[in-house]
Amino acid sequence: MSKKHKTVLAIGPHPDDIELGCFGTMCKYTQEWSNVHFLILSKGEGGTDEWDRIEEAKKSAALLQCKLHLEDLPDRYMTEWQETISVIEKHIKKIKPDIVFIPSGNDVHQDHRAIYNACLVAVRLVDEVYIYQAPSTTMGFQPTMYFDITDFIKTKTKAVRIHSTQWGKVYMAERAVEWLAEYRAFDIFRNDRYMEAFEVLRIVK
Ligand SMILES: [Zn+2]
Repeated sequence: MSKKHKTVLAIGPHPDDIELGCFGTMCKYTQEWSNVHFLILSKGEGGTDEWDRIEEAKKSAALLQCKLHLEDLPDRYMTEWQETISVIEKHIKKIKPDIVFIPSGNDVHQDHRAIYNACLVAVRLVDEVYIYQAPSTTMGFQPTMYFDITDFIKTKTKAVRIHSTQWGKVYMAERAVEWLAEYRAFDIFRNDRYMEAFEVLRIVK
């Protein structure tokens, strides 16, 4: 028997990854009364003042009233080894998620590759695991699952734009966020829709 209301966990190496990769989908789960958790593994101190970035993460998580878990792994110097695995496992044991969203290993950012590899171990007992796309994800990303986020595209762009310390990056622009969601809808011939796309790591039924 599956529970009606799922516990969903999104894992981000940095404070803006969840917003860019799967925020619309998290809105959808929230609307369906699932319990949504965000785990952010670093304070993003590599790019800017870390205090600002934590405040931004808190503000965008508050849009969903989801539970935010913050860790302090070293931005840009994360490893895929035990020190990272144990941090993620600690939260998996506590939250007991039915569904987990993780970053892609096909990514030019070393932290994203490290967290993907650490997650392979840390979420090995979770029945549903999906991989989201970040701006640094490569063309090796080949999605097979799509979430229609048309009703939530404005909330997603708002959540991304809350991260004002990152506005200098082109992918933080409202049109960039909307364009990717529109492009992902074209992937599967849905006109006038917005989608978030995912690779399926595993579904156990
Ligand atoms: Zn990132």
